[in-house]
Amino acid sequence: MSDATNGLQGLPDVHDLERLANEYFSALPASYTPGSTAKAENSYQDFSGHELIKSYSSGSSAHSLPFESERPFERELKNALEALSVTQPTSQLPLVHLAAANESFYYFSAGLQSIPDPLHPPFNVNLVRNDFPILSEQVNGKLLVWLDNAATTQKPRQVIERLSHFYKHENSNIHRAAHGLAARATDAYEEARQKVQHFIHARSPNEVVFVRGTTEAINLVANSWGEQYLQPGDEIVLTNLEHHANIVPWQLLAKKKGLVIKVAPVDDSGQILLDEYARLLNPRTKLVAFTLVSNALGTVTPAQQIVQLAHAAGAKVLADGAQSVSHIRTDVQKLDADWFVFSGHKIFGPTGIGVLYGKEDLLNSTQPYQGGGNMIQDVTFEHSEFHNTPSRFEAGTGNIADAVGLGAAIDYVQKLGIDHIYQYEHFLLQYATRKLEQIPGLRLIGTATEKTSVLSFVLEGFTTVQVGEALSKEGIAVRSGHHCAQPILRRFGVEATVRPSLAFYNTCAEIDLLVAVTSSLKR
Ligand code: PLP
Repeated sequence: MSDATNGLQGLPDVHDLERLANEYFSALPASYTPGSTAKAENSYQDFSGHELIKSYSSGSSAHSLPFESERPFERELKNALEALSVTQPTSQLPLVHLAAANESFYYFSAGLQSIPDPLHPPFNVNLVRNDFPILSEQVNGKLLVWLDNAATTQKPRQVIERLSHFYKHENSNIHRAAHGLAARATDAYEEARQKVQHFIHARSPNEVVFVRGTTEAINLVANSWGEQYLQPGDEIVLTNLEHHANIVPWQLLAKKKGLVIKVAPVDDSGQILLDEYARLLNPRTKLVAFTLVSNALGTVTPAQQIVQLAHAAGAKVLADGAQSVSHIRTDVQKLDADWFVFSGHKIFGPTGIGVLYGKEDLLNSTQPYQGGGNMIQDVTFEHSEFHNTPSRFEAGTGNIADAVGLGAAIDYVQKLGIDHIYQYEHFLLQYATRKLEQIPGLRLIGTATEKTSVLSFVLEGFTTVQVGEALSKEGIAVRSGHHCAQPILRRFGVEATVRPSLAFYNTCAEIDLLVAVTSSLKR
């Protein structure tokens, strides 16, 4: 990666910027040498956001720049970022970009405001990368650059080892046996449920149902609550931004039950037009289902406002958190949606495990989705009594080990701190946006003010597959295609885009390589 070149005019040397940014983001002593595994591992022992902020801030007031005199790169970083047209004063970097918006729209904003000092993110990307073995893989003879995080995220050693530990020491079916391993497996599984509960700030673990992923969670709500409560003529409001997983289940239900689907449009930046959305709501609206973050454009939607308007119209709300959960703080109580769904594999956990959060009373008054073992209290040939949530919706043997793995992934994210992750990724997003938009013939699709982690683009004269293949030759993995979100791409007049998508282990150098390879195609 060190031979990545900056093919663009008028920008600071990207390696300098990355060095500065890394030093800046580093919470390690100034003597730390990036790339030194021994030091990284030693430092990892006491790697904790709280500790590092404390030591970093010691002797300085909360919003001043600590150690400024010992850290001359501070001024250089400021200059470098200004040259990238990042116009906010440095004291507001790294870009908690919510100021222009009505904060009440964004249910996560209160959490961000509570960060002690956004200038001092408490993790070092080089140390973090050491935790992800796959980031050392060679692909096509090049070091892997994983920029396909919206499709799935890579797994830290802590998750991989937790899965292995489960199968070596705890494996058993759960809830049903009196033996020791059953107790271990049940404890591990229920502990994972509690981790999810705390992470999304649910009132009770009973509000956390383990499912296969976002897709299954949405189908579960459609086929249980939707099947039970929706009547012919009832209306469902979706948005133009939805992933197919939040369109097709409702279409299937609509066809079966004679429901009407309406779609809230977006503006030319890819943000939902709230007034148009509000106009769609009426007493026949029984459900609003919307995404918190668009997987195709990266738009962060005005979630709290969408939920409040839906509830005022008497509708229930399902919030799709597949693309928000690893980037933005989740607080289901503050959001107040009736259901919130996400997939474990998008938050550094295993595939095949995901979560349906639902308000407890609502879940308990909803008919089961599937019947079988584990979800019943009593069965005769004439009649069955069902458990309450969560067992009510967990028929049969679930994905026990991967639920435990999801718990480990959540631990990992909590340790870094979701608000710090948001800040770091937002910095990367701004950096990448500024550089990509300067490539001649490149059109960014999705330019909303509120965005996270996704950069969708088309390049004049090249198919998205050609761009994807050229990047792949250099080891860079991005998604090229329709991203299971055809309606929103068609809204922008395209059938496919190239979609680099970011996570906290990505770096400025990786973005430089992406930009260099993409711009080299135009030469
Ligand atoms: N919703 C959104 C916004 C997504 O991005 C995705 C996957 O990309 C899904 C739903 C479906 O997730 P899964 O395939 O994990 O069920």
